[in-house]
Amino acid sequence: MSVGYINGTFFHSDAEAILVEDGIITMTGTNAEILAAVTKEDEIVDLAGTYTVPGFIDSHMHLIGLGQFLTNLQLDDCESLDELLDLLRQKAAETKAGEWIIGRGYNEDRFPDHRRPVKSMLDAVCPDKPVALTRACGHAMSVNSKAMELAGIDEHTTVEGGHIDFADGIIEENAITLIHDAWPKDTPVSVRKAISAGMRYCNKKGITTVCSDDFPNAGDDYRLPLDVFEQLSYRQELTVRVNEQCEFGSVKEFSEFLDDGYTTDVGNDYFRIGPLKLITDGSLGARTAALSGTYADDPSRTGYMAINDEDLELYVKLAARFNMPAIAHCIGDDAVDRVLAAYEDVVLEGNPLHHGIVHCQIMRPDQIQKVLDKKLVCYFQSLFVDYDASILEARVGRELAKTSYPFRTLFEGTIACNGSDAPVELNDPLRGIMLAVTRESKRFPGCSMNKDEALTVEQAVMSYTEKGAEAIFMEDRIGRIKEGYYADFAVLDTNIMACDVNAIGDAKVLMTVMNGERVYEYVPDDPEGR
Ligand SMILES: [Zn+2]
Repeated sequence: MSVGYINGTFFHSDAEAILVEDGIITMTGTNAEILAAVTKEDEIVDLAGTYTVPGFIDSHMHLIGLGQFLTNLQLDDCESLDELLDLLRQKAAETKAGEWIIGRGYNEDRFPDHRRPVKSMLDAVCPDKPVALTRACGHAMSVNSKAMELAGIDEHTTVEGGHIDFADGIIEENAITLIHDAWPKDTPVSVRKAISAGMRYCNKKGITTVCSDDFPNAGDDYRLPLDVFEQLSYRQELTVRVNEQCEFGSVKEFSEFLDDGYTTDVGNDYFRIGPLKLITDGSLGARTAALSGTYADDPSRTGYMAINDEDLELYVKLAARFNMPAIAHCIGDDAVDRVLAAYEDVVLEGNPLHHGIVHCQIMRPDQIQKVLDKKLVCYFQSLFVDYDASILEARVGRELAKTSYPFRTLFEGTIACNGSDAPVELNDPLRGIMLAVTRESKRFPGCSMNKDEALTVEQAVMSYTEKGAEAIFMEDRIGRIKEGYYADFAVLDTNIMACDVNAIGDAKVLMTVMNGERVYEYVPDDPEGR
């Protein structure tokens, strides 16, 4: 059976209607042309003048981490420490003895007194059960005494590329692994549950493809999440296409992965192995991002690298030998320097493998030029504008702030695609499009970033569609509404190319179609939809 979608308006297309058969857009044209092509058995969907975009591609996120976030204690709405501690108290009351309380999403910059939750506060509310609350950025964690005891952390514990403040129970970067190791072990069932919660959330937001970094979020090594993803893809149970950004705990683990026969491109159009993902530094919010100078609002800190230069070089060289691109998380300009140095001899003319940089935040003009010269693929997150606009200048000073988050320069000079880094920010491409265009914070009114780097609405939509497809070599089959492409699209209640830019963030996704299947439908008065 075919489905004709008529009376529509489509991004980057002058069609009024499309025909979908076996998951593929087989025809685009006028209403009359599509109606002439359907038979009695076929279905007609009246789009009633709504606006349809290609299914959004979230080019960097953590699908399993998002699903875990949605099913654990969510702290992202907390506006004060008291609110956070109240939520923890409630959760502690309903948690059985011996069970972990795992939460995520707090950001002390949103609290009036800017104080972090520390060990003494968590102990006061919950002395008997282990508590671990991850900061929104994922690069720092607040824990209670019970959690440290179970993780075997005492006042003498140290971890390379990480930091432990034993007195306050603040754990940063690589040291977080000690807590993760003490958590209840993931199982195929728990991983499947997280993936399906994450996929559902993405579909609600019009997303049909995710580039997802999952290995560190489930089990002791890559095999558990990989097995679950492969099973789901063979059974055609994935409702988003997944391009896996492969992150490892050590070079040894990465070489085992290669020995197992995995490399970029292994898989199918539901689940495919993507690039090697490297974490290099921390976050701007937690002041762990590695800067070449000191933090303007705390001259005692420069941030730090979570990986040493030798390992960085080893990873990148090993990846290149297997024709695997590397994409490296860089937030501070010192991290960008080190990654550019590691890429120096590895990235070939024109960057055919698509080596890249994830985040592209604190950057100097000389670095931006090098990124453009080497045609590195840039994975940025315009959703970060909402919070980072409130801290950027304070953290790095006016001069560096001006050339940071250079989305337009990157978009116009190389392949640059957009994403959420969920669960750091919850996926919301429409809000991301609005923030890429306005560069004005909604949460912190009055805070903005250099507007010379604003995208147009058209560019912002492309950053979530065509450019995301190009980054992962799928530009011939996803990211556009075009004959021969997969029927991956999202129907919106608003023409985002014609409405007021500030209204884009409030546009509603009415329906999400992936591979021809309706994977989400809006239902009035039901937040879950169909
Ligand atoms: Zn990430």
